[in-house]
Amino acid sequence: MSLASVSRMEAKLLLPTYERQPILFVRGRGVYLWDSEGKRYLDFLSGIGVNALGHNHPAIQATIKRQAGRLIHISNLFFHEYQAELARLLTEISGLDRAFFCNSGTEAWEGALKLARAFAQANNNFAKANNGSKPKTRILAMDNSFHGRTFGALATTGQPKYRAPFVPLLPGVDFVKFNDVEDLKRKFDSSVCAVCIETIQGEGGICPVNPEFLELASRLTKESGALLVLDEIQCGLGRTGRHFAYQHYGVLPDVVTVAKPLACGLPLGAILTTERVASCFHPGMHGTTFGGGPLACAVAIEFLREEKKLLKHVRIVGEYFQAALRELDKKHKSIQEVRGAGLMLAVELDSAELAKAVAKQLLQKGIIINRTHETVLRFLPPYIIQKKHVDQMIQALDAALRDNAESTKTATAEKESTGSKRRRAVHAHA
Ligand SMILES: *Cc1c(COP(=O)(O)O)cnc(C)c1O
Repeated sequence: MSLASVSRMEAKLLLPTYERQPILFVRGRGVYLWDSEGKRYLDFLSGIGVNALGHNHPAIQATIKRQAGRLIHISNLFFHEYQAELARLLTEISGLDRAFFCNSGTEAWEGALKLARAFAQANNNFAKANNGSKPKTRILAMDNSFHGRTFGALATTGQPKYRAPFVPLLPGVDFVKFNDVEDLKRKFDSSVCAVCIETIQGEGGICPVNPEFLELASRLTKESGALLVLDEIQCGLGRTGRHFAYQHYGVLPDVVTVAKPLACGLPLGAILTTERVASCFHPGMHGTTFGGGPLACAVAIEFLREEKKLLKHVRIVGEYFQAALRELDKKHKSIQEVRGAGLMLAVELDSAELAKAVAKQLLQKGIIINRTHETVLRFLPPYIIQKKHVDQMIQALDAALRDNAESTKTATAEKESTGSKRRRAVHAHA
């Protein structure tokens, strides 16, 4: 089928939820994708951080073939060979004790919210001793965050555009200004059961949490018996050059969610937590039909084997990439800021039109990136990306910024009159 016929049928038959780029992809290998006309693309987005090992990785392909020939689904009524082993690997790298498997990021997040409420309820005595009769049910979430599309995730997503069409949402959620220590102090009290943070905000434009903010959240939750819940669905599992982004900070959360790259494109998410928190769940309180099936778990085990080997490479290529973006920053007035860690990087531009035009030109040149939060160019390449691919991308980006500067001259002139570039801490580090 051609792009034209597919897009005509979709326009008639699907819910109108997506604005797709007019490209029909038919295969991929490593860092490259090919469309229906045989044009090759360099992938700097990896399906929004999912294809971390690139496309068609030989070990992943072999595992899928082998396992598909044995057993794909069994339900959580029975044992299969891979959940325990995958949980062992995830707890080993996270420093947490137990895992729950589900099918997506948003579903992992829903489970984490349920865990926070259930834990507070199970520890009611602790809460009562602290605050008399006030129920410990409030959830603090961050402005500018993104946790998914289901109702609980929406209720904790601090971007009004995602929430507004669906109100009323889950009650008991309050938003804190991201990285604003005073605002967190003001809004936190013993009625809070969880503080929810993306260690590096993804959809929100690649914004790392500040060390002092995360440390305060960790201290406040510890002192009052609330939970620190980190969403590492985008920034976790090697993306920043460590297994988890919180490992750059030396803070250990009570609960962490992961998903995107976990099963290399098969649907799989996980909640990781401590022994203490896990003990508030009992059989029947939470579950899933598909989640943690043998095929997805077998693939995830294989992914973690590769991820471990790639961490150092992610750090080295990530630093090389970030340094190159900083060189562009010096050269182009339209660049406001370069942010991120490892291979989760972003360039904030001074106008949405420019960002749109740059992303479009790169796509025409055969390089896939993504624009998020209007003005931010987001880079989430596969971990296997090499310096030569970064060079190719930087060259194209340099040209696109130059070629499209004209169309946004007004914004640039405005910036020159208001002063220089914004500067702020960009690194997530210990
Ligand atoms: C993508 C994402 C989600 C939602 O994951 P889905 O698999 O799309 O449900 C939640 N949190 C963060 C930080 C994400 O990047």
